[in-house]
Amino acid sequence: MPQPNPIHLDLLIDASPRPASDGSRLEIRSPHDGATVGSVPKATPADLETAVAAAHRAFTQWSSRTAYERERIIRQATAHARSQADALGLAMALEQGKPLAQSRSEITATCDLIDYYAAEAPRIEGWTNPTEDRAYRSWVQWQPVGVCALITPWNYPVALLGWKLGPALAAGCTAVVKPTPVTPLSPLAFCHALAQGGLPPGVLNAITGPGPDLGEALVRHPRVAKIAMTGSTATGKRILELAAPHLKKVSLELGGQCPAIVCADADLDLAARTIAYKGWRNAGQSCSSVNRVYAHADVHDALALRLQALAEKMTLGDGISDPSVDLGPMTTPHGPLNAQAHVDDAVARGARILTGGRRPPGESYARGHYYLPTLLSDCPQDARVMREETFGPVVAMARFRSLEDAIARANDSAYGLVAYLFTRDLATTVRASDALETGTVCVNHGAVNTAYGPYAGWKDSGYGLELSRHAIHEYLKPKHIKVALP
Ligand code: NAD
Repeated sequence: MPQPNPIHLDLLIDASPRPASDGSRLEIRSPHDGATVGSVPKATPADLETAVAAAHRAFTQWSSRTAYERERIIRQATAHARSQADALGLAMALEQGKPLAQSRSEITATCDLIDYYAAEAPRIEGWTNPTEDRAYRSWVQWQPVGVCALITPWNYPVALLGWKLGPALAAGCTAVVKPTPVTPLSPLAFCHALAQGGLPPGVLNAITGPGPDLGEALVRHPRVAKIAMTGSTATGKRILELAAPHLKKVSLELGGQCPAIVCADADLDLAARTIAYKGWRNAGQSCSSVNRVYAHADVHDALALRLQALAEKMTLGDGISDPSVDLGPMTTPHGPLNAQAHVDDAVARGARILTGGRRPPGESYARGHYYLPTLLSDCPQDARVMREETFGPVVAMARFRSLEDAIARANDSAYGLVAYLFTRDLATTVRASDALETGTVCVNHGAVNTAYGPYAGWKDSGYGLELSRHAIHEYLKPKHIKVALP
């Protein structure tokens, strides 16, 4: 396949493409070979002002449309974005590294999710109350909070934007999106596609540039009423600190360190397939990756053999020119360095490398951020790979004898995002899922995120929730209206 042309995009403000006010740009490089894949403007504080002002102006009109009108307009916009899925998917594969087919399906799945929320707009129901006197009437209605700042990371650059944009637009809010400077091309192009699809001017704006500067200015901006962010726990805590003095509404999806418990009665083929998928897909760069596996001592070795075989079958490479590739490069140069540091630390503490544990050899990987799918066994609980977010293709195993011990070790974490359990026993399913300290428990599968399931990080993994119809309330505020009849 010939090298695709670099993608040069402008900011999206008031439905128009605009360069940065000082003309400066940020170059984006391929994680596969370091080539320039495109560029975006480096928005200035003046651009941020213009974007927030546009969103603020648009809010009055957008929020006073009927829910049915909003649903229709949003669906028209997503239909246009869906028609651009090939180009948008290519932008993501080029900048992020995941194979083209996975990037493309992230675009279409995001359109589906935004449509799910569009359909929720007419279901934002209020209620009436019985009153203490017949002369009173009382009802409650929900109103949109206003301008929302949507701040997003690089691992699922469009999906994690859709999780915020869907409920925000359906609720009647307007948005200023600030994607990560690591992978800004696909989310910015996605926003342009939605605007071209008919979102009214100012309803959706997108500015790109350095994270802390632009992000903090957005969070602090007096006209921004709500901040929704996915990213690291440290950044989330900083945002909460900045928002607190203004009592702004905030929702945060943060880091994860997800355990999988594999019981002696588990279907080992299913457990291995699921752990391989959740541990290594997207080069392990997922908040819901399986990081640590607690396997019953009776099945530990059989599971390890299956996982090792699956890891060694995986193909690495440029998933744009070669559709058979399973794993692309990691997105940032820091990725393989961090994975190696975690592996070295585990080995120094007594863990064994069953497969991987290094960068792949060979000229074709030399210029990319590649790291082999890695399996460690006998990993002690105090190893970094069991406690910190590796955010790489590294799965660490340990053995257990009693379910209580496995649950205690699974819960021994600052994070509380997702836990996986493999068993055929109903009592074990109920006991373990009650006791696991995570916002999501997946039993015998890895299909973590669905439109209907709330995704809430417990402990250091989040604040508020995303997904499910309930997430729309993160973008609404209640109003009680009490009338005394004359
Ligand atoms: P990050 O925290 O570095 O950045 C996230 C976003 O915040 C980016 O847009 C960044 O530019 C912006 N930002 C950075 N500093 C800021 C500041 N001081 N104020 C405001 N905004 C700021 O995270 P990342 O490296 O882009 O993404 C990886 C992290 O995201 C991992 O920790 C991962 O676990 C987490 N993540 C969580 C979920 C989830 O749903 N829980 C999903 C995916 C990723």
